[in-house]
Amino acid sequence: MSENKKLNPNFNPFGVRLNKESHIKKVIAVVSGKGGVGKSLVSGLLASTAINQGYFTGLLDADVTGPSIGRMFGIKQGAYSNEEGLIYPAVTPKQLKIMSSNMLLEDEEKAVMWRGIMINNAIKDFYAKVLWQDLDLLFVDMPPGTGDVPLTVYQSLPVAGIVLVTTPQDLVSMIVAKAIDMANKMNVPILGIIENMSYMKDEASGQVFYPFGESKLEEYASRHNIKILARLPIDPTLRLAADQGEFDQLEVEYLNDALQSIVSDIDLQVE
Ligand code: ADP
Repeated sequence: MSENKKLNPNFNPFGVRLNKESHIKKVIAVVSGKGGVGKSLVSGLLASTAINQGYFTGLLDADVTGPSIGRMFGIKQGAYSNEEGLIYPAVTPKQLKIMSSNMLLEDEEKAVMWRGIMINNAIKDFYAKVLWQDLDLLFVDMPPGTGDVPLTVYQSLPVAGIVLVTTPQDLVSMIVAKAIDMANKMNVPILGIIENMSYMKDEASGQVFYPFGESKLEEYASRHNIKILARLPIDPTLRLAADQGEFDQLEVEYLNDALQSIVSDIDLQVE
């Protein structure tokens, strides 16, 4: 007699199949309405926080036309594959595994000039053909907006949930609402919002400034029924670490609680 099995909530009929050498427990996409809000920085920070908390972690740079993950983590190497065509990710000293399109370019300063279909196929390969091996968490740094690539990621990867990155200014526009709408339509849970560039703190006096005005985040999040995961300040240490390729060495605690909330909401089981 055949047994009826409950469908995995992340089951995806259009999905690509991960190589047999790898097993990824949960995929989390980091999303923003527009570029420049710090989505890549937050993706990098989530990944390095996860590493610092002891999770086996990977970071997939799906922002193919504006890849910044490689530079943030000081990745200089190219990508190599084995006889079966499986690609080796870059591995940082702290054992974060990274795959980014600039690992495929001879010259980092050259533009990635791929047509839409090539980008979509590259993203699928970055997931399916990379030797991620055993990961607890794979963070995907999505391109901004609600275009073709986010759609491909939602349709092809078993995304357990998304983290939305906003700034006080872009909350007022429609673009964040569109990103929320897209995730809802694709039935992908929204794990919460991380507000970036929320405030600035003068370390000497302890005074807090709001260069972009005090945001309407509380009201916005409650209207859309979304959790606020964290508020990140404008912090020159973060920008410097990103510019100098030293993100792997970061030990900041800004996203410690946010990560714990994410891990519990996606029901990540670790031994
Ligand atoms: P996006 O991925 O949304 O296009 P990035 O993560 O590339 O944006 O961030 C844009 C720029 O702003 C980068 O130079 C980054 O280092 C800087 N930046 C982002 N967030 C912060 C922050 N909280 N503090 C300081 N600099 C930041």
